[in-house]
Amino acid sequence: MAIISEQYKARKLCDRLLSKINILDNASCWYWTGNKNEYGYGRFKLHGKTVGAHRLIWEVFNKVIPDNMNVLHKCDNPGCVNPDHLFLGTQKDNVTDMIQKNRRGDYRKLKDGEAWLVRRLVNAGFSQAKIAPMFKCSRWPIRNVMNPNGPYQDVLA
Ligand SMILES: [Zn+2]
Repeated sequence: MAIISEQYKARKLCDRLLSKINILDNASCWYWTGNKNEYGYGRFKLHGKTVGAHRLIWEVFNKVIPDNMNVLHKCDNPGCVNPDHLFLGTQKDNVTDMIQKNRRGDYRKLKDGEAWLVRRLVNAGFSQAKIAPMFKCSRWPIRNVMNPNGPYQDVLA
């Protein structure tokens, strides 16, 4: 019988994972604070191998990644590991998705001045649903602006 149980190992892994995630609430992006690759995707060392943080999170939440499938982001934020923001797709889906969202690896959609303005509007009581069309974006960039751990923190400091 193993000295360290599988359950214990799983808990240790979860603790390690959670220590690298900034969670504001269930709905917002969960920001990966650990290592990231050049495209902003979280990286995690597991059994001596580097794995994608969002892929690992997907599996931690008891979902299997079938062969030839990728774990993609609904929220367009490669550094996000909120399981609710992830979905399975093929590499082709990913490319199509990128073209549709015009992503090009940049998840800071709003310019600095826009981010500043968004925050003013939210603080003035405008809803995210009202603000998003003003900036011709989805509600994700608006949420991200309001997240103190988000990609706009230097703009808003
Ligand atoms: Zn997200």
